[in-house]
Formats: sequence, C-alpha cells, structure tokens
Amino acid sequence: MTKNSTTELIQQVVDHVVNDDKAVLADWGDQRDQWVQMGGDLLKGIDKVISSDLRITKDDGTIGTYPAFRVQHNNACGYYKGGIRFSTGVNQSEVKTLAMLMTLKNALHDLPYGGGKGGVHINPRHHSKREIKEVSKAFVRMLQNDIGPYRDIPAPDVGTGEETMDWMTEEYKLLHPNKPFINTFTGKSLANGGAQGRSESTGIGTFLSYYYLVEAVISGSLSVNDMHTKTKDKVKAIAEKDNVIVAVQGFGNLSRAAAIEAANCGKKHTVIAVSDSRATIYNQDGLDVEALAPFKEKNDRLPNEDELKELGLVGEVLDPNAVLTLDCDVLILGAIEDQITKDNMKDIKADILVEGANGPLTGEADEYLEAQGKVIIPDVLANAGGVTVSYLEWVQGFNNEAKSEDENLKDMSDRMRNVSYRVYNAYFSSESNVTMRFLCYKLAFLRVIDLMKRSGKIV
Ligand code: GLU
Repeated sequence: MTKNSTTELIQQVVDHVVNDDKAVLADWGDQRDQWVQMGGDLLKGIDKVISSDLRITKDDGTIGTYPAFRVQHNNACGYYKGGIRFSTGVNQSEVKTLAMLMTLKNALHDLPYGGGKGGVHINPRHHSKREIKEVSKAFVRMLQNDIGPYRDIPAPDVGTGEETMDWMTEEYKLLHPNKPFINTFTGKSLANGGAQGRSESTGIGTFLSYYYLVEAVISGSLSVNDMHTKTKDKVKAIAEKDNVIVAVQGFGNLSRAAAIEAANCGKKHTVIAVSDSRATIYNQDGLDVEALAPFKEKNDRLPNEDELKELGLVGEVLDPNAVLTLDCDVLILGAIEDQITKDNMKDIKADILVEGANGPLTGEADEYLEAQGKVIIPDVLANAGGVTVSYLEWVQGFNNEAKSEDENLKDMSDRMRNVSYRVYNAYFSSESNVTMRFLCYKLAFLRVIDLMKRSGKIV
C-alpha cells in the first residue's frame, strides 16, 4: 500500500466523476467539473503533520529515541479520527496514507469524522511495559494541543490497545486539568469509559462485510449489470456451499474475533487456519478457534505442536505465510499491510479476500487478483467496525449512558449492513468494470466533496 496507489485511485475517481458520470452532482451547475477536480486535489493533500522524536529513559538508564507522527488528513466530515500504531513499519509517508484511508473510511461509513492517524516507530515487543507507557505519555505531550474530543480523537491500532488509551487519557488529564478529557481517546478500557464490544468490533465487522455480500447476492434484491455477472455467480456458488472454507491471517484482536464470528455465524463456515508472525496453525477439518484464543491472549503467540497437544487441539504448525496460499473459499487478511505481493499473488487460491488490515495487498497484487476475477472486499469497507464502535463510545461519553455489548454490536452490525448493501448495490449495478475499492472511494469522495462545498472549502 503506497501513498501513490491511494492518491492515484482518488484521481481515477475524480476523472470518472468528471468524464463518465455526469449525473452525479449535476445540480452543481457549470462549475461542477472544476469543483470536483479541486475537491480531489484537496483530498490528495493533508491538513497537518505533528511530528517529533520521542525520547524516554529506558530501564537500563540509556535514552531511547522513537520517531512519532500524527497526521490530520482532512476534517471536512468532522473531527479528525483514527488510530495510533506502534510498529517498526511506521514512517511519515505510511502514516499519511493511513490517515487518508481514515478520511475515506469515515466518510464512506457516514460517521461524523474526518481522518487522522498516528504512529510511533517502535517494536513494542522489545520494550518493557514501563518503557511503552513512557512512550505513550511522551506521544501525548507531543500532541497535547492538537487533540481533544472536539478536535482529533485517537484510538488503538496495530501494537496499541485499551491500556495504551488509558495511559494516554491520564497524561492528557494531567496536562490539561481544566479541559474535558472524556472522549479525547476512544478504545479505552471498560472501567475507564470504554464501550462494550469495542475490542471485538473490528474483527466481527470484517467478517460481516463478507457475510453481507453473500446475503445481498442471494437475496436477489441486487440489480446486476452483465459486467458483474461472473462475480455474482462466484459469490453465489460460495453461498450455496454446505460448508464454506475460511483461512484467517493473524490471530490478534481483529483476526481472533473474525475467526470466532466465522465459526459461530449460523451458516457452516470451517476455519482451517489462523496465523501470527511466527506460525500458521492448520487443520483441514477445522480448528477450534475459541479454544485457541485464550492461549494466544495469555502468551501473545500461537502454540507449538507440543502445546497444541497439551491443549487437546489437533493441527499442524506451518510457516507464517502458509496461511495465505491455502486452498479455501474466503481469506480474511487480518494482520498488517503488504502481505500479498508480486511474490505470492499467483498462489492465492481463495475466491473472496477480505481486508481486515489496512492495505494488506500491494497495488500490483491488487490489480493482478482483480484481473483474475477474485472478489476483494476493501479495507475501507471491511474494517470499519472498530471506528464505528469508537463512535458509539464517543456518544456514550457525552451521554454518560453505557450500552450493553449486544446493543453496541447490533448497532455496529446494522450500520455495517447499510453501508455494505449500499456499496454492493452500486458495484453490481455499475455499468463500468470498476472494483469495489473504486466504488467505496467514489462514495466516500462524494460525501467529502459535498461537505467541502457546503463549508466553502471549494468555491
Ligand atoms: N485503528 C482503527 C482503524 O483503522 C480504529 C480507529 C478509531 O477507532 O478511531 O479504523
């Protein structure tokens, strides 16, 4: 996933709206094309980058230095919103791309947010809890005047979680004793104002984006242009199977919840593999993912063969990338970016790929797999369950009225269903050979530029 491929796709959307879809925004009159171009240019830029090297004293008394960034991409649709990741993959360009994706994701899902993203270049596994806490607090000191419940609301992402959000909230409170601190961060622990269901929401939503595709296709309610009959037939064939075979890359927060949702969703889905950075665990007859989850949570890794036996589970231990190329119907990509590349794209056997992680396909792999007729449910659609429940947490913080897990997940599922159906309807009825990613970008773009126009950013 590169900034180039994201901005190129935005430009393709602009060109398409200008040249091929004159019906859209027709009421904008003579200046429509010019405003659409202007909106595209604004969306390709960023509002603000806050950056510095965070310095902490490490446990051994030496100084540790970690480059840190917060990118506020665009706030046409509302306050900047997006996660903070702690990872060695973090650099300014990557965070800019991820922030741009958040603008599109929040717009597509009709949330009252713009897009932002933060990151610290650090490997959290190589540091003590105290060191990570110090880094989290230093990050808030860097950002202290740029975040807040009505300005920019960070949340967890790769390598961070509710504990990080609790530490960050505390630091913000100390720095700003007279400012509201509730809702400065979402994804906090339940005790600290978090929302029930937030931690499972991204994974459940990811699985649901696939489930609603199947549901929409077999409901017969979609009008399908000839262009998309093949895709429809492919999804229908999977829908009609007695047993859908699923492989899940990752077994962290997102993938765990997605795998458990797949196993329990009502229709028979067999999860044959899950993975982490060290291994794939595979069983063609199906893994007991619920029994595997507590081990991973406790040890932060998957079991080896002996440990699997001790747990009473049957499975083979394969190399970490093996999960990607297994024979399956659905591949859920729930780990990190750039996992399917030119090196392994030809070996992908799944017919449906679901992007739980942001940008798990390189641009080249994306194009190749699309050309092969694979169905790719893009990140901006698939992984929005998390930010949707973040929104519910934010609302709950203002109302001081916590909803139950069932209520939050039902609310999130309903919202995911609405948006998924909107995308699938637009996709299948489309008269041109567009991808789902293109359509998601287009729907998001139309909302962003509508708001840019209303607010006078484009005139
Ligand atoms: N990090 C998540 C994402 O990429 C959640 C962001 C949020 O809750 O603000 O969507």
